[in-house]
Amino acid sequence: MGLTDIRARIAKAEAEAGRDPDSVTLIAVSKVQPLERVAAVLEEGHRTFGENRVQEAAGKWPDFRERFDGVDLHLIGPLQTNKTRQAFELFQAIHSVDRPKLAKTIARIAQEEGHCPDLFIQVNTGEEEQKAGVLPSDADGFIAECRAMDLPVRGLMCIPPVEEEPSLHFALLAKIAARNDLEGLSMGMSSDFERAIALGATHVRVGSAIFGERSYD
Ligand SMILES: *Cc1c(COP(=O)(O)O)cnc(C)c1O
Repeated sequence: MGLTDIRARIAKAEAEAGRDPDSVTLIAVSKVQPLERVAAVLEEGHRTFGENRVQEAAGKWPDFRERFDGVDLHLIGPLQTNKTRQAFELFQAIHSVDRPKLAKTIARIAQEEGHCPDLFIQVNTGEEEQKAGVLPSDADGFIAECRAMDLPVRGLMCIPPVEEEPSLHFALLAKIAARNDLEGLSMGMSSDFERAIALGATHVRVGSAIFGERSYD
């Protein structure tokens, strides 16, 4: 466990899949983790992190940014439209674009601010009622809609159902991305990132395997 170990496992998975070294970006998911654990990973030189709540990110990353240069922060959780402007200030990428209303808000604020984070469209590959993301059958249409608004859509993101073999979901996400000419694939977490890399992941989101289990109390 830990950053060095995860980097080594990513390098091995890249090699086994016949992919270039460093073709996969490791997003260290720091949500809920004690600040000293996050600081330790920054001290080791890692700069790419993921948070799933805007509010939580706002509470810790401005301070870390004063201490460490070059932080690259990714929003991997749901975004309420009224937090979009704040998300623009904090994040270099948003992995949870999942509905027209949010896409329109992002487009408007991008115009006002003169920049836009990289965007990933979340696809609900398991068609789970409680989960965010566009349905696979709506993905092509939504991607086209975002492109028509000139949004910088870099790729797709999914969170497979916990009970199912994730590879089926990774393969489905890769297929939707390929037919839409999208290169980015944000998929794979602590328990399955190697399988995601085998199926083309460009961004893996790994939390507990780097930092240890999250404690919510
Ligand atoms: C928390 C979270 C992760 C990381 O989960 P681990 O199992 O700790 O690696 C990845 N993606 C999303 C969207 C998350 O919310």
